Amino acid sequence: MTTTAPTTAPAQGTGEILEAGHVDVLIVGAGVSGIGAAHHLREQFPDRTFVILDAQDNRGGTWWTHQYPGVRSDSDLFTYGYRFKPWRGPSIAAGEEILAYLDEVIDEDDLSPCIRYQHRVTSASWSSEDRRWAVDVTRIDTGQQLRFTTGFLWMCQGYYNHAKPYQPRWEGMDRFAGVIVHPQRWPQGLDLAGKRVIVIGSGATAATLIPAIAGTAKHVTMLQRSPSYFFAPPTTHELALTLRALDIPEEWTHEILRRQYIQQTDVLARTAREAPDDLHALLVESVRPLLPENFDVDKHLTPRYRPWQQRIAIVPDGDLFAALREGTASIVTDTIETFTEDGIKVSSGEEIPADVVVTATGFNLSVLGDVAFTVDGELVDFTGRVTWRGIMINGVPNMAYVFGYFRHSWTLRVDLVSDLVGRLLSHMRDNGATMVVPTLRPQDCDMQLRPWSDPENFNPGYVMRSQHVLFKQGDREPWTHLLEHEEEREILPKADLDDGTLVYS
Ligand SMILES: Cc1cc2nc3c(=O)[nH]c(=O)nc-3n(C[C@H](O)[C@H](O)[C@H](O)COP(=O)(O)OP(=O)(O)OC[C@H]3O[C@@H](n4cnc5c(N)ncnc54)[C@H](O)[C@@H]3O)c2cc1C
Repeated sequence: MTTTAPTTAPAQGTGEILEAGHVDVLIVGAGVSGIGAAHHLREQFPDRTFVILDAQDNRGGTWWTHQYPGVRSDSDLFTYGYRFKPWRGPSIAAGEEILAYLDEVIDEDDLSPCIRYQHRVTSASWSSEDRRWAVDVTRIDTGQQLRFTTGFLWMCQGYYNHAKPYQPRWEGMDRFAGVIVHPQRWPQGLDLAGKRVIVIGSGATAATLIPAIAGTAKHVTMLQRSPSYFFAPPTTHELALTLRALDIPEEWTHEILRRQYIQQTDVLARTAREAPDDLHALLVESVRPLLPENFDVDKHLTPRYRPWQQRIAIVPDGDLFAALREGTASIVTDTIETFTEDGIKVSSGEEIPADVVVTATGFNLSVLGDVAFTVDGELVDFTGRVTWRGIMINGVPNMAYVFGYFRHSWTLRVDLVSDLVGRLLSHMRDNGATMVVPTLRPQDCDMQLRPWSDPENFNPGYVMRSQHVLFKQGDREPWTHLLEHEEEREILPKADLDDGTLVYS
């Protein structure tokens, strides 16, 4: 399949918008979601044209943006990998192994000719008369303004701003004589040998980075305001070793391990709901034997929230705890009073010396890639809109988005959403429709709107900081975004496309 979009734009214009061609489907984002979406699209609709636009200069999304030492998955790759492509490596993988896997998908599906890098989508305008989106793009390398048109917009933009990490300001930061870095913008060649490093944060990034640099730096201090949950599984699942020794097809191993990990995460998620105190105790007690003698587990590793209200950070083979045992890393649980010239002073009065401070403080959430949407000339204010099954938005025609799971692997949802979008496109084709709009039925109009994420259920900082700019959920299906794969893998494949909430024309 080819696209009618030219591979390079004409010579730089003088501020005018250059027509860049028409495609049947336009995918925004070349991360795991966009590449997965393109695979499914090509497989199900070999005759349709499509293009993938990404603001970055390479593929991989998250895995291209995050290049700090030790960057790795938190999920097992049998479920983080796609349903359609076996994973051959260890269960927990390094960022570059994930990029290599995505490269294989791009090669096998011959996606390269369809991907345009350094293309930032700035706005998308739907015309019901023309039955198409006009998608405006700024080329980051040349500054050119381009306009693509498409019949269906597939937003695979992820959930955070790749260009601007969340970087809180603390008193005294300006006088700190050392270097301050954010993991999202890790400087190439930063030499930590012999340096005293403070990592601010307690989540997956801190847990990943610290063991990776602990052997090189003089000392690494994890400075956290409050503790997170950790779980220390082996890097490679025993079952993977057993199956691989049997010399069976890789597809079998992939599928069996997928089922194993899905079931394990189902049990964890269910226990978090039904017996949170038991899971809390299990997680906290499971790390205790890995810690140095007399370690204050209550202060440093006993979270104050329920398990799974935020992601559980994975510490494969307990490597973070090994660094604590060896004394190359330590944890301080306190609040920052001020940066000093030589480090950070915390509320207890202690001053932690540092040459380098890493602010593993997370993301700025971005709603649908910060693209400005208009429908028939009217700007879409997402804060007043409701999601249709966490895939479409009421009143926004011919647009689907991918938002993965928090508790299971993100990618499990990429496959499920792609199946549903495929069904929807087939349904439209079979019924001669060129437009589909999620629409509140009369009985839905007075339903109670709920926040996109119920804080009781899932409440990490980056979601809570941005709830006010996000679209909402209703109090009934299909106006909900279900967080559990266990529910969705039953519901989404059977979702009724003719229940009156999708209006076709
Ligand atoms: C360090 C780290 C580790 C993680 N580990 C896991 C894990 O183990 N398991 C898990 O399930 N999840 C994990 N996550 C969450 C992770 O973000 C998702 O798993 C997944 O990578 C998201 O993929 P995506 O393609 O949807 O979005 P992204 O990876 O965010 O990619 C989106 C792409 O869209 C592009 N884009 C966005 N807006 C625009 C625009 N307007 N115009 C053009 N391009 C645009 C971006 O440039 C980017 O390249 C991790 C996240 C981080 C940061």
